[in-house]
Amino acid sequence: MNSILIAGAGQAAIETAAALRARGFEGQVCLFGAERKFPYQRPPLSKQILTGKMDLSALDLRAEAFYTNKNIKVRTDTQVTHVDPAARTIQLESGETASYDKLLIATGARPRPLPIEGSHLKGVCYLRSLEDALNIQQQLLPGNRLVIIGGGYIGLEVAASARTMGCEVSVCEMAPMVMSRQVDGEVASLFEERHRAEGVNIRCSARVSAIKGVDSVEAVIVDGESVPADLVIIGVGAIPNTECLANTDLLTDGALWVDANCRSRDPHIYGAGDVTTQLRANGLNMRLESVQNAAHQSKAAAAAMLGQEPPRDEVPWFWSEQYDMKLQIAGLPAEGDEPIVRRFDNGISVVYLNRDIVSAVSVVGNPREFMAAKKLIIKKCPVKRDQIADSGITLKELIQFKTGDEVEAHVDKLRAKLQED
Ligand code: FAD
Repeated sequence: MNSILIAGAGQAAIETAAALRARGFEGQVCLFGAERKFPYQRPPLSKQILTGKMDLSALDLRAEAFYTNKNIKVRTDTQVTHVDPAARTIQLESGETASYDKLLIATGARPRPLPIEGSHLKGVCYLRSLEDALNIQQQLLPGNRLVIIGGGYIGLEVAASARTMGCEVSVCEMAPMVMSRQVDGEVASLFEERHRAEGVNIRCSARVSAIKGVDSVEAVIVDGESVPADLVIIGVGAIPNTECLANTDLLTDGALWVDANCRSRDPHIYGAGDVTTQLRANGLNMRLESVQNAAHQSKAAAAAMLGQEPPRDEVPWFWSEQYDMKLQIAGLPAEGDEPIVRRFDNGISVVYLNRDIVSAVSVVGNPREFMAAKKLIIKKCPVKRDQIADSGITLKELIQFKTGDEVEAHVDKLRAKLQED
């Protein structure tokens, strides 16, 4: 095998190229990225970039020397327009074609458009790229009125950054609570309370019907009320960039379907990152938009392309930062898993139980709890409900045991010792 081409030049593309070299592949590796900028990380875009706390040079995924040293070719400003699986070629916007032995699709996703009246007006923005972030940052001036449509993690991170910059911020969320696709109600309330305490006008169960203005945005119509706005940011989800696969049968629910080893239905095409949907441990085909998912799928795709052993399984995890609050999520709860709330001095966690196994966790303000929960999930350590419900027992205590009875005996000992003390 001589040539591996990669459509896309973001997180998943870079991680795959690096993994191919680390695994000893010496043939051609070439990335085609639609953006002008060299590959960079997106998480800081809604956080440190909006608040001006990060130097742009710190955003690069790798220093340029890395690509030279590893003989990885990156063609920026080059869109892949078409994939021909039968001919094993890709076509670029310029009309140029290139042949591959293996192809990785790592084209990510883009913001889901909100087709309402006024969404074309100047001052209506989406956030996905550095260009978007810099454009928004320039408008986060003290006193400017910002309306965010969508109370998911991107909307709320932007809200926190904009408040930090002194803007007047409203968040309009269609669901009855914020971050409803990501977290349990207890965790959502904690973030909602904090945003309210910081002065953000959070409006849940909100119906946004139009954006008003002549050339530029002037107001957003929410539940029939006109909310004045100098800037509107729409954060209502993302859709996979799959146009180059439009004429193939490789898509499921609009995303590139891949198996556990990141192989698509075509033996020469693989996928990693936000563009993919994959069968997960909870039995569902799911698209995960996270750095960890992109990184892990990249390792798996590189191994599969080279016919090597797949990497060890990982628990999916994700983080979000709003003000000084850090949310960490691991695992994927299945329908019917029981959420159990644990409270600490400075935080909270919600542990999801599937019978006696921890399936997922959301943690705020307790990184140790998060690390321990991740281990419980991956090792499938048996636990008992009342042990999880007791916040006095750290999750770390529960990792070392193979059966629930062993845990119980240990916890009894701990409790007896506490009473003695
Ligand atoms: P991307 O990094 O988006 O890269 C895909 C690249 O492919 C893009 O450069 C795109 O322009 C290019 N492309 C698209 N179509 C084509 C084509 N036809 N031809 C050539 N190139 C193409 N995750 C976390 O875990 N924690 C966070 O806190 C977090 N915060 C985030 C904040 C923001 C504002 C955003 C936007 C995302 C955040 N994420 C976070 C998600 C995380 O950044 C993504 O999951 C990750 O970047 C996915 O990597 P990817 O390579 O699949 O896609």
